[in-house]
Amino acid sequence: MKKFFKVTALVACMALLVMSLVACGGEKAQDTKVLNIGTNAEFPPFEFIDAEAGVIGEFAGIDVEIGKAVAESIGSEAVINNMDFDSLLIALNNDQVDCVIAGMTITPERQEEVDFSTPYYKATQVMIVAADSDIAKAADIADKQIGVIDGYTGQTCVEELGFDYNGYRKGADAVLDLANGKLDVVVIDSSTAQKFIGENDGLKIVEDAETFASEEYGIAIKKGNTELLEAVNAKIEAMLADGTINDICTKYEDAE
Ligand code: GLN
Repeated sequence: MKKFFKVTALVACMALLVMSLVACGGEKAQDTKVLNIGTNAEFPPFEFIDAEAGVIGEFAGIDVEIGKAVAESIGSEAVINNMDFDSLLIALNNDQVDCVIAGMTITPERQEEVDFSTPYYKATQVMIVAADSDIAKAADIADKQIGVIDGYTGQTCVEELGFDYNGYRKGADAVLDLANGKLDVVVIDSSTAQKFIGENDGLKIVEDAETFASEEYGIAIKKGNTELLEAVNAKIEAMLADGTINDICTKYEDAE
């Protein structure tokens, strides 16, 4: 047993050492170029942790595959840096990551901070509610217990409506509180909502296209890094044109 702990401790130390080397150096041994991607792996089907079918380590999802393809197109290896959604653009502007691929909606506020690639996905905010709820439109949630995720565009939408809300760090936690009856509604992106209702019984999605505008996801890149922006755009545009992005989306959206 003691030996087991020693070995485990040794392995843990080595893993930490490797992680810190990757984090500090930005480049791995043998001169492999690395594309450091920032994401928040709490947003299925775009990025989530999947011990079984990871594309990069344990990370899987639409963005993870897109990130891997983009990295390959510039002769680099994709490394995922998982962090709070709120911290992503700060990390990008501090050069901790080279780009952010996180189902991130292109908004004028964010465009003041960073540049965005050509959009690669269209989404909208929706409401997840109990299957027997009579909520039918956004106005109906005015006096309800609303859950949003900190820093997501869903939070901005609810703020703009002038409604009070409960903030969560993770979509899954908000949906759990909804399933347990602590919340009446969770406002979140459409494709992620589909995934969450598939994982929890007794929930449904209510759309309100008049209230929630269409959104577009883009890859965020530090202002001034035009070389990377152009390379990313070239790959995204090629993958949109030849159907690769469509295939990746279908694969993850249809997965059980
Ligand atoms: N699209 C939403 C936003 O940009 C949520 C993104 C996410 O959770 N990864 O705020």
